[in-house]
Amino acid sequence: MNDNRYFGASEAELGFLKEIVRMLPAGVTVQDADGELLLVNDAAAAQLGMDGSRPSPDLVPRREACCQALSAGRAVVTEEALHEGATRQVLLTTHRPVRLAGRELLISASSDITEQKNFEDQLFRSAYFDELTGLPSRRVIEHRANSLLAGSRGGDRFALAFLDVDNFKHINDYYGHAVGDALLVELSKRLGRDLRETDMLSRISGDEFLLLLSPIQSQEEVAEFVQSTLERLTAPFFIDGSELFASTSVGISLYPEHGSSFETLRQNADIAMYRIKNDGKGMAAFFDASMEREAQARMKIEQSLRLAILEKRFCCAFQSKVDIRTQAVKGIEALVRLRDDEGVIQAPGSFINLAGELGLIDELTHLVLAEIVKSIDLINETFGAEATISINVAAKQAGKPEFMRNFARALEETGFPQRFMIEVTEDAFVAKSHFQSEILPMFRKLGVGISIDDFGTGYSSLSALADITADEIKIDRSFITDIHKRPRSQGILRAIESLSEALGMTVIAEGLESYEELAYLQAATKIRYAQGYYFSRPIFLEELKLATPASSESRGSVASRPMQQNRQGYSRASGYRR
Ligand code: C2E
Ligand code: MG
Ligand code: MG
Repeated sequence: MNDNRYFGASEAELGFLKEIVRMLPAGVTVQDADGELLLVNDAAAAQLGMDGSRPSPDLVPRREACCQALSAGRAVVTEEALHEGATRQVLLTTHRPVRLAGRELLISASSDITEQKNFEDQLFRSAYFDELTGLPSRRVIEHRANSLLAGSRGGDRFALAFLDVDNFKHINDYYGHAVGDALLVELSKRLGRDLRETDMLSRISGDEFLLLLSPIQSQEEVAEFVQSTLERLTAPFFIDGSELFASTSVGISLYPEHGSSFETLRQNADIAMYRIKNDGKGMAAFFDASMEREAQARMKIEQSLRLAILEKRFCCAFQSKVDIRTQAVKGIEALVRLRDDEGVIQAPGSFINLAGELGLIDELTHLVLAEIVKSIDLINETFGAEATISINVAAKQAGKPEFMRNFARALEETGFPQRFMIEVTEDAFVAKSHFQSEILPMFRKLGVGISIDDFGTGYSSLSALADITADEIKIDRSFITDIHKRPRSQGILRAIESLSEALGMTVIAEGLESYEELAYLQAATKIRYAQGYYFSRPIFLEELKLATPASSESRGSVASRPMQQNRQGYSRASGYRR
């Protein structure tokens, strides 16, 4: 390089060029045929650690690359990863063999692509691995299953299990998302234990996992393995100072019996899982053809529900809340009914959860309110203008500020918001949402009453009741049925009663069906109100009007008494299936 004859350059020009090479932002080196470095500019010295930044740089890879490139006789592009402790530097280097002054030389230019590489890796990880649990993503397991399917020549069997954590939403609502996340991490560790190299566990969404077991010999072997996994989950999880229990429902499909594509196998495992969810959760089931028929039937209900909402084929039945001593009607509860494609009236049990899952329930609640407003004159005529009107709001809706704001506005727009009560289950109160602190005050301001529905069936305890601010508490039917014969229920009733009294809440006994139950309440408790078939079944106002024109005597007292022959709202005439 000191010889400037070849370049025909002046000393000054040469100095200038050398300075430029030295200061180039890319690392430039020149090596001879033995790999010895003849020239190293500043950037290359820094990249290779020859500037004193590292104790003794490892130049062996660079020498090897040099010899390879020279023997190949053409330019080579390589990625070099230089590690120093935990940090990694990645260089993209172009090696170019040249012949200069009769010597074989290698000119190499490197740029630092560490940042770009880190970003690519991060992208790769997020595309193929779940950030929370570190498990492979859906794409990875799908790819694995597909390659098993492609490579299978008869004989090769595998199982695909769909796992869904039970009541995960409750855990998230109750303990908060951080605890929910931590639980998923712990859960995935337990699920992943005892897997073979060839098995794969993947998290495919929120609380759903897919497990690929391959190879397998028999269905029994899979059943046994899944069972032992489920048993492992029964031990409590200790998270953030809380002891949590989590079970998982599992549906399993087998290749080749239950499908020949990943999608079919996944869907069928999902169908089997769905069956377990309905059968009591926390267990496993293999897919079978009857489940497929069930799934199709469910699909049909789903479609018809969407259509019913679209066509507004809903109506309300009303059931009175009665003063058990005077028989006066304190209020009424609107209970939604669906008229299906064939004109048959369906009770909410068959569609309300589905409406919630499909995101149709908000619209349904507004339809109920609209029907009440439309029928308000008839309601007043039948039950009295003082009767409160209760509307059920699902816990899921109660935790959504946007829906609740709209709903509060709609109640206000009726012009008589103080007539209304909203009934929500206790879950809404104990969930870590803003229901108590932000949403309830909004309704209070309008004069809308708050009622705790089905008390005793949810997740709260009696002590949680002390923190709940509501006007009314409805004791679930399961405590009232045969209350006169059940000392344990009697004890619970007394406890709820005295706590409610202390908190200034009105108590309503739900599902009162018999004279004996009524007699017990009257004799042994201070409970004043009840709702149940004994007094009145839910009724349709139109039927009421047709059956017995409301007399002035019946107004304000148990309105259903005069029409016992047709106190329906569920009548055979209307074809209501129970
Ligand atoms: P709920 O709010 O606890 O309503 C009381 C349910 O118990 C009603 O069932 C009623 O018909 C039934 N019931 C009343 N008295 C008796 C009795 O003496 N014996 C028996 N065995 N049952 C009695 P329904 O109408 O089938 O409604 C079921 C549930 O569906 C309601 O329970 C409520 O949670 C929900 N629901 C009803 N309408 C709506 C609505 O508009 N929106 C929402 N989100 N949920 C609703
Ligand atoms: Mg209710
Ligand atoms: Mg109830």
